[in-house]
Amino acid sequence: MVSIDVSVCPKCGGRLRYYDSVKRIVRTKGRKTWKVPMRRLRCTRCGALHREMSELIFPYKQYEAEVIIGVVEGLITCETLGFEDYPCELTMGRWTAQKQQLLLWR
Ligand SMILES: [Zn+2]
Repeated sequence: MVSIDVSVCPKCGGRLRYYDSVKRIVRTKGRKTWKVPMRRLRCTRCGALHREMSELIFPYKQYEAEVIIGVVEGLITCETLGFEDYPCELTMGRWTAQKQQLLLWR
């Protein structure tokens, strides 16, 4: 996973080139899902594939960044209208525990 402004391979420092585009499914409010196009880049030196990171989502998280930030900053809790049963309390607890790390991705 590399961020958009990085165009060198994190492994070997080689140049990255556009390889193809994949759709990533992200869960958002109201149990909806939407597909985010994500470009894959290939290293011209070692051939490693890297997925370009979208600003809208956190790596390895299936929820929308907006929802995650809301939870981490305490704006969304289990009592917030529309979020009562989603995401679950356990997930929210995990995000809060990772707060420092998550905020670095903003
Ligand atoms: Zn490389």
